[in-house]
Amino acid sequence: MSEKTIQEIGHLIKNCEYTIALSGAGVSTPSGIPDFRSANSGLWETYDPFEVASLNSFRYNPGKVYNWLRPLVKLIINASPNSAHKGLAQLEEDGYLQKIITQNVDSLHQKAGSNNVLEVHGSFRTLTCTSCFKQYRSSAFIDTFIQDGELPRCRSCQRVLKPDAILFGEQLPAQTWLQAVEASRRCDLLIVIGSSLEVIPVAGLPMRAIDNGAHLIILNQQETYMDIRADIILREDVAVTIPAIVNEVLGG
Ligand code: ZN
Repeated sequence: MSEKTIQEIGHLIKNCEYTIALSGAGVSTPSGIPDFRSANSGLWETYDPFEVASLNSFRYNPGKVYNWLRPLVKLIINASPNSAHKGLAQLEEDGYLQKIITQNVDSLHQKAGSNNVLEVHGSFRTLTCTSCFKQYRSSAFIDTFIQDGELPRCRSCQRVLKPDAILFGEQLPAQTWLQAVEASRRCDLLIVIGSSLEVIPVAGLPMRAIDNGAHLIILNQQETYMDIRADIILREDVAVTIPAIVNEVLGG
């Protein structure tokens, strides 16, 4: 990891007024959560996630979708934020990070102490009835689901509740998405963190930021289609680079 690159990133963060982070699976893999959409995650080798975890499958066979989600939910509720999550929370607390837009559904940014988080792919914290739209906290259902596989049901109409993490083929939560677009237009620095920018429409947000004159930093182990437009790229584990950046910003 180049000391000079870390200094340049720190310099940019300190000199920008409205910085946002766009985080993806790479932020949570050091916490033991595999990439939800990755074929190589090892968790669901027998299934095609695009087929099983889709809104359509949920309508016809919610039990099958829940069965697929069960190992992921179990990992998520037991996971702890890592040094990348904690570093970002610290930057927010000290006024250097205005918002996090996250593709992750694990709530680890909030567990680390971040307050301004836009979960554009939803989360598992709540469940909604697809019939009467009543919303529930997941905590009331999680133990029986994890232990016995019992499906969470609406207390009014007995329908199976849908997790508020979005499934394939499902619309992004509209309000959150609009806020993410607005933040991308407004920022003068966008930092991509642990996302390969492969999932649309979120992958288009850095382009909106750049079109409005923002700087772009990409911290990701794999290449992204926006690398060519980035001011700075650092292809290393974000659990290592983020703490170094935080040290640079807060220490220097
Ligand atoms: Zn209901």
